[in-house]
Amino acid sequence: MKELTHFINGQHVKGTSGRFTEVFNPATGEAIAKTPLATVDELNDAVAKAAEAQKAWGATNPQRRARVMMKFGALINEHMDELAEMLSMEHGKTLPDARGDVQRGLEVVEVCMGAPHMLKGEYTDDGGPGIDLYSMRQPLGVVAGITPFNFPAMIPLWKMAPALACGNAMILKPSERVPSTSLRLAELIIEAGLPEGVLQVVNGDKEVVDAILDNEEIAAVGFVGSTPIAQYIYGRAATNGKRAQCFGGAKNHMIIMPDADLDKAADALVGAGFGAAGERCMAISVAVPVGQETADALVEKLVPRIEKLKVGPYTAGEDVDYGPVITGAAKSRIEGLISSGVDQGAKLVVDGRDFTLQGYENGFFVGPSLFDNVTPDMDIYKEEIFGPVLSQVRAGSYDEALELVIDNPYGNGTAIYTADGDTARDFAHRVNVGMVGINFPIPVPLSYHTFGGWKKSAFGDLNQYGPDAFRFYTKTKTVTARWFSGIKEGGEFNFKAMD
Ligand code: NAD
Repeated sequence: MKELTHFINGQHVKGTSGRFTEVFNPATGEAIAKTPLATVDELNDAVAKAAEAQKAWGATNPQRRARVMMKFGALINEHMDELAEMLSMEHGKTLPDARGDVQRGLEVVEVCMGAPHMLKGEYTDDGGPGIDLYSMRQPLGVVAGITPFNFPAMIPLWKMAPALACGNAMILKPSERVPSTSLRLAELIIEAGLPEGVLQVVNGDKEVVDAILDNEEIAAVGFVGSTPIAQYIYGRAATNGKRAQCFGGAKNHMIIMPDADLDKAADALVGAGFGAAGERCMAISVAVPVGQETADALVEKLVPRIEKLKVGPYTAGEDVDYGPVITGAAKSRIEGLISSGVDQGAKLVVDGRDFTLQGYENGFFVGPSLFDNVTPDMDIYKEEIFGPVLSQVRAGSYDEALELVIDNPYGNGTAIYTADGDTARDFAHRVNVGMVGINFPIPVPLSYHTFGGWKKSAFGDLNQYGPDAFRFYTKTKTVTARWFSGIKEGGEFNFKAMD
């Protein structure tokens, strides 16, 4: 079994703790590698080296740093297929979806090529007699990124590209279940010209995360993962005086109005509910049709689409719709939740339990499931299932549907399907969710906007990527300057003012 490494000062470095986590090929269920779990000492050593390297990098002018991003972007493009295959093998998602994972990260690198523009400060000329004010954005120093398993390329790139473009050094702690893509990205950014030590990849679990949170040199933490861990990290980072933005889990609803194009809504629900086996923080897991007729018609349209879904390994070709879930434990948890839905009275219209695939009997596959008549008191509604399970909650009116979304503790993404602009506008205005789709199922904003949920889907300030990232990864310093009259008054050859 391949022993993976950390990536310190531009080199692959073996772990010293003797502790490892197994990395699986979820399609076969086979352990293919082991991730070293760093100790507190290994983390502190990586941070000390990063702090040293950051001094010169932070003093490098922004345009030169942006050129590293340009080269990095070119290298990611060049290695797109290699990165996609690497992440599919550890994560299980299909190859087209894996390329999307790399692409949506690459787009943030592209925005970071414009870092000099984003880092410009403010200026007030003549704020008082002879007084000017100006502000500058300066790097924080060493920052940390802690990322989840479900986007092995995109989210590490969301973290590292803006942090580094702003002149910081970064400790990247990827998910121990999918570390290889981060290690490869670290090699590529060194090849692009990033000085050694400015990006350190330290692998590990809770022990190293706690060491990050307690290390005094680390000024900020950007976290993405589940809500309980996001809240924990936010609390501990804040107690230790760090800047923190911690993005958590989700339960994303789509409202389907009676005037919606139901074929388009059903297509969107199947893609957004089952794509990537439902392991997306922006997956739609709850469909909320308004009116009994809409609900009945929607189920009729969903069932044949769901039954046609092709579930398989990423190696089975580009027409596979989705792959396995991440671990055997995740498969058991999802199937357990499906059983709880049946026990608690929901109608299981399509049952994805006991799904097996010939030749891949040990893979972590879960077939697609559709529930109807789900109510908010059921566990399948309350829990983030993070699997290929779509629940339909029937609403009697638009207001009832909207209240359901408003009352849900999560607020990452939501969508409405309707032909009525007034309803769509009212929904976008009133809903308390960070990212809203109108006839658009997965409204992940483009890289020059920003990404972030509300309520229990995010803790801390500012969103990921876009202009907010440049604010999060820099401190503002504002200078008030007064220059007394000097040499320009002294020359006798000048005409003097008549004062
Ligand atoms: P997770 O919370 O289990 O792990 C995320 C990171 O935290 C990993 O690096 C992991 O090593 C670390 N970690 C895990 N347990 C820890 C603990 N007890 N103490 C300290 N650190 C710990 O999440 P996951 O299963 O890898 O990812 C799936 C979750 O991420 C889902 O809830 C999903 O909705 C969420 N997610 C959110 C967004 C977003 O932007 N809001 C994006 C992607 C995924």
